[in-house]
Amino acid sequence: MGSIPEMEHSRSQKAFDRARRVLVGGVNSPVRAFGAVGGTPIIVDRAQGAQVWDVDGNAYTDFICSWGALILGHAHQEITAALAEQDALGTSYGMTTELEIELAEMLQKSLPSMERVRFVSSGTEATMSAVRLARAATGRNFIVKFEGGYHGHGDSFLAKAGSGLATLGIAASPGVPEALAELTLDAPYNDLEAVERLFESHGHDIAAVIVEPVAANMGLVPPLDGFLSEVRELTRHHGALLIFDEVITGFRLCFGGAQNLFGIEPDLTTLGKIIGGGLPVAAYGGRRELMEQIAPLGPVYQAGTLSGNPLAMRAGIETLKRLASVGFYDSLERKAKILADGMRQALSDSGVAGHVARAGSLLTLFFTVGPVENYAAAKRSDTRRFASFFQEMLRRKILIPPSQFEALFVSAAHGDDDIRRTVVACRESLAAIRP
Ligand SMILES: *Cc1c(COP(=O)(O)O)cnc(C)c1O
Repeated sequence: MGSIPEMEHSRSQKAFDRARRVLVGGVNSPVRAFGAVGGTPIIVDRAQGAQVWDVDGNAYTDFICSWGALILGHAHQEITAALAEQDALGTSYGMTTELEIELAEMLQKSLPSMERVRFVSSGTEATMSAVRLARAATGRNFIVKFEGGYHGHGDSFLAKAGSGLATLGIAASPGVPEALAELTLDAPYNDLEAVERLFESHGHDIAAVIVEPVAANMGLVPPLDGFLSEVRELTRHHGALLIFDEVITGFRLCFGGAQNLFGIEPDLTTLGKIIGGGLPVAAYGGRRELMEQIAPLGPVYQAGTLSGNPLAMRAGIETLKRLASVGFYDSLERKAKILADGMRQALSDSGVAGHVARAGSLLTLFFTVGPVENYAAAKRSDTRRFASFFQEMLRRKILIPPSQFEALFVSAAHGDDDIRRTVVACRESLAAIRP
């Protein structure tokens, strides 16, 4: 184990120094700065399949996969070919194309609750727009979100949020007017009674409950049995809308959304990541009479210069076509299970306290004593131990998300050998960090 050759990182170091003189913190999204794990962030040169190369020429097996967007892996040959073809036809028209219709039809078919769809360019835009619509449609102002849930960086979502805010320990962001922040109510994930209490106290004022059906931004935390269906009942009973934020779970757990798996029909759904195949695409949609309140049919305004961008639509269409093939999700499930089981075995052999949570091809190794059902439990993780683990994995050329509060993403490009090597690296890394 001590025999791992030291990697060259001088070019990444130099590039990051340069980045810090021009980009805020050297990055365009906080978690990329490696703040939670220390060390110099690797600067990426290129990627192919399940591998990324940094600018020093080191190759890593990648479990970030653009935060799950690349379920087929990097630079998939047929998708890059399709993109080259579209590229030559123009990259943006600011007018409607048949590509948008085609991708929307695919969504409508696979997620029947999305009777009407609107494309936007980021998950943040999708959730912000969905909440605006929910407020307009109900004439109410409050929204309920769950602690540790992440719904992008819209003002209303920055209280007790997951992902980068969890990583940085930011409880709420300055710059969000108190008057707006007060309209966001929080409940612990998987805590139905807390949601009931919010409805008892604010029932007539709650426009919507927004939830990641399988929480994946506080680390991976699956819903307890019945939790989502009870939230569905409660919202219906109180005249509030239910928004499923499926930006990660959409087309991740099965073809369609978590809503297909759980048999629950939300009023509104947000999608992103996978539906853009690595290009900037997101969407929101829902029941027709709701969605038709959006301009141009209704008064709720929402627009976008690059919305429905043809290059991005093409990436989405080509990606979804491949996800629809027989056995696609079974194969992902099989590999992710081998990885999770291998990690669990490695944990128990090492004597290091930890817990591996998994849903389909999403998984997190929490450095906690017990299982994790909510954000409070996730936050009890030993994040310093996670940081050491991350660095040990990186030395073994396995790139996992640089935060305890993110999930690993297994893609179709990960081969059995990648999974085997990752389990071995995990075993060695746990041995290296054993107290
Ligand atoms: C990534 C994510 C978002 C935000 O999407 P961006 O494209 O980063 O703005 C919203 N909700 C969930 C559940 C996400 O995972």
